Amino acid sequence: MLYQRSSALFDEAYQYIPGGVNSPVRAFKSVGGVPIFMKSAKGAYMTDADDNTYIDYINSWGPAILGHTHPEVLEAIQKQAESGFSFGTPTELETEIAKLIVKNVPNIDQIRMVSSGTEACMSAIRLARGFTGRDKIIKFEGCYHGHSDSFLIKAGSGAATFGNPNSPGVTAGTAKDTLLARYNDAEQVADLFRHNPGEIAAIIVEPVAGNMGCVLPENNFLQNLRKLCDENGALLIFDEVMTGFRLAFGGAQEVFNVKADLVTYGKVIGGGLPVGAFAGRNEIMDHLAPKGGVYQAGTLSGNPLAMRAGLTTLELIRKDENLYQNLNKTAETLDFEIGKILNSKNIEHRINRKGSMMSIFFHVNAVSNFEEAANANHSLFNNFFHHLLANGIYLPPSGFETWFISAAIKENEIDRTLEVIRKFEYS
Ligand SMILES: *Cc1c(COP(=O)(O)O)cnc(C)c1O
Repeated sequence: MLYQRSSALFDEAYQYIPGGVNSPVRAFKSVGGVPIFMKSAKGAYMTDADDNTYIDYINSWGPAILGHTHPEVLEAIQKQAESGFSFGTPTELETEIAKLIVKNVPNIDQIRMVSSGTEACMSAIRLARGFTGRDKIIKFEGCYHGHSDSFLIKAGSGAATFGNPNSPGVTAGTAKDTLLARYNDAEQVADLFRHNPGEIAAIIVEPVAGNMGCVLPENNFLQNLRKLCDENGALLIFDEVMTGFRLAFGGAQEVFNVKADLVTYGKVIGGGLPVGAFAGRNEIMDHLAPKGGVYQAGTLSGNPLAMRAGLTTLELIRKDENLYQNLNKTAETLDFEIGKILNSKNIEHRINRKGSMMSIFFHVNAVSNFEEAANANHSLFNNFFHHLLANGIYLPPSGFETWFISAAIKENEIDRTLEVIRKFEYS
């Protein structure tokens, strides 16, 4: 495969955009090589600037759960655009999407729309602090909650890929209010509560972690966090930017049957347009401006084009009774068959999977926290990545990221993927 045009585009972008990209992981720094510039996508496939096509396992990092450029979503966006792009006033559309979500997601009464997952998490933390009157928060090593200052402490994802978990520019004052614990280690969390009595506003957690690769909650981790929050008057925030509307319509709250006090959304909720949201019970959400004192705002929040894309996507998800079952089946087949192939090649690995989120760690031991994810053989992952890329299969370009299966990936795509993996040789 040739990447002449991508290569030229990257050289040019490099002059005008920091590192040539608008989000770090896209630069392929972790896996090496030239980042591929895409120009179009439809269904299960993306096409790059050199006209190579790929089966897509990122799906825009989750939003394209129905596959790319779904015809009904496309039509809805086109139609909406004719009525105007943005008004800076309330619209009926905002209530429509809010109602759909509140009525079908457990345990939330109100939802506020923002424009990214970062904004959602940042705002949820401010609200938790405003509501509890406390400053400190607990986050987990390897969990990513967007790039706002409070969270860039041992964050996963791009930050892990680049090996500088503490970003320059985050002040010591901010960092001191973020307490860290190991994922799946509720004992450490209990210790933090003991050592910081009456000071912890909230725990924020990815209920299934996706930003250190896919890591599942184990040994009643989420239930234990719920209990610790209740005992200590802190709020439990589920960052469902990845898991929301992906594991189930009601997200991880529904799947694990654990109630969060605040929930953040992004990715799928915007159907491919820039949307985030945070939601909770009335007693908490009533603290937000203009009703309450906790300030939060956005010029393009609730933007009609973005709401239309999100609403149409969520309605399509609701309509398809078998969607989650089918996604699960696709991922299960990939999980099982890839495992068989790698075993036959004596390649040590672990596949972590929940529903349609999965990733491969080339590691002999189970991976249940960031340290274990970091100990996997990432250079082997990079080999694997490039073998697949060269054969028209696009995985996330880092061993610290999750694959997102879309409904457009069917038998043909699975077969092709397995055929390519059968030819993989680790050199
Ligand atoms: C992607 C992600 C975010 C950040 O969302 P952006 O839209 O990129 O700002 C936050 N939390 C989790 C769990 C994510 O996966």
